[in-house]
Amino acid sequence: MSRTHAEWQQLAATLGIEGRLFIDGEYAHAHDSRTFNCINPATGDKLAEVAWSAAADVDAAVAAARRAFESGVWSGLPPLKRGKILKRFAALIRQHRDELALLETLDMGKPIGDSTTVDVPGAAYCVEWFAEAIDKVGGEVAPVDPKLVGLVTREPVGVVAAVVPWNFPILMASWKFGPALAAGNAVIVKPSEKSPLTAIRLAGLAKQAGIPDGIFQVLPGGGDVGKLLALHMGVDCIAFTGSTAVGKLIAGYAAQSNLKRVWLELGGKSPNIILEDCPDLARAARTAAGAIYYNMGEMCTAGSRVLVQRSIKERFLEEFRKAAQRYYPADPLDPAAGMGAIVDQIQFDKVLSYIDQGRGEGATLICGGQATQVESKGYFIEPTAFDCPHPDLTICREEIFGPVLSVITFDSIDEAVRIANDTEYGLAAAVWTANVSTAHQVSRRLRAGTVWVNCYDEGGDMNLPFGGFKQSGNGRDKSLHALEKYTELKSTLIKL
Ligand code: NAP
Ligand code: MG
Repeated sequence: MSRTHAEWQQLAATLGIEGRLFIDGEYAHAHDSRTFNCINPATGDKLAEVAWSAAADVDAAVAAARRAFESGVWSGLPPLKRGKILKRFAALIRQHRDELALLETLDMGKPIGDSTTVDVPGAAYCVEWFAEAIDKVGGEVAPVDPKLVGLVTREPVGVVAAVVPWNFPILMASWKFGPALAAGNAVIVKPSEKSPLTAIRLAGLAKQAGIPDGIFQVLPGGGDVGKLLALHMGVDCIAFTGSTAVGKLIAGYAAQSNLKRVWLELGGKSPNIILEDCPDLARAARTAAGAIYYNMGEMCTAGSRVLVQRSIKERFLEEFRKAAQRYYPADPLDPAAGMGAIVDQIQFDKVLSYIDQGRGEGATLICGGQATQVESKGYFIEPTAFDCPHPDLTICREEIFGPVLSVITFDSIDEAVRIANDTEYGLAAAVWTANVSTAHQVSRRLRAGTVWVNCYDEGGDMNLPFGGFKQSGNGRDKSLHALEKYTELKSTLIKL
């Protein structure tokens, strides 16, 4: 059932919001009763007071996770049974779609039409997919000396901390806890302080689904809570999605403590290459606009650099200007909104300062360039694009994480590939061409975890691994490969 703008507003006005942390099967206040205000970025209004987890809460959650893990209540279940409980969890997420979508939109400003169709169903799909996978992947029998039996098995790593960002709060969390729970681990989720509400609500649903106490816990709070988890001697694995800068800190915390497994999904500055034999320039322009303006550009995979061949540049830009208008921001509760609000004041100021820097370094505005709807007190920025004189401008190199595109012009394919790869990141890339050989050759040369040909951001399918080359991270979310992050390999040798 789809709701109108007025119906969403009405639902928002009566929504009950849980702000407490969740440890060992119970909602509770922080140990020292500390809270922080959760703000709606579209209005500046306070939504809820949320628990800021204390060090004692982190210790309590890790201890509960350890107890639950070692008792075998979860890891010791037959996979079929664990799968059934996880499928119930997925079904509950679907049943609560509108409530979860509304929490997500109010909390971080994305259009409600996206929360209901992408984020919440995507999280349910992830949990369900891994639930279905666990009784279908087994170990190996190694070809060893016939006097031996050599077994290779995968065992859960133990206590997994998932530290996740605010751009896709429920979805990025599910990409961690889905496979981690399926593999039999105990999971502690640390949502961003900018967007804690859906993770908190999920904890109640996990309990309702039958996930045992201590196996799924949620510790809201700021970066200090993430740091305590990353430094904790009782955490076996930290799965992180966020910035490259914090990812480096996390790797350091693991090194300083117990060498816990570290999996990092980090930033990007992804190139979207439009060659002159692009099969459909209007579609390429519409797709390029979606690649940078979807989710207000707060996308790790954002196609934030368009590399366009000189001969087709003017025609491309003409189409792009038209396509960008679709993303003019509106109230996120309006089902017709193309873009919503930027997540908070800090990110809003950061994006505007990059726009100033673009102007200052000699880039020419193609569209947008300003804050808008200032009377709403919300953080709205126009879909913005710059024509850049060369690829070394700050806005061509740094991740902006907002609705700001840098367009770079090139003459030859070699030049395009060189510019595309000349970045510390390697999360995603795209190339548009009608020539199948060019498509294969260029995609092989692009140093990125995902390459799209004649499309962008396709592949909601869970069976495609997702992650980065270079400083975009290590390890992969999604697909059966994600299970590798949350398991240890064991060789067992039996002498006959
Ligand atoms: P962030 O600032 O790195 O924060 C990510 C998470 O880490 C948040 O929960 C944050 O808590 C926590 N944190 C901050 N400082 C910490 C510390 N010293 N120790 C431990 N944890 C700490 O990133 P963000 O601004 O939320 O997200 C944007 C970034 O995520 C972008 O760079 C984007 O590209 C990347 N991203 C990557 C992917 C991917 O799959 N590759 C997907 C989505 C986003 P607080 O927010 O409460 O401070
Ligand atoms: Mg918020």
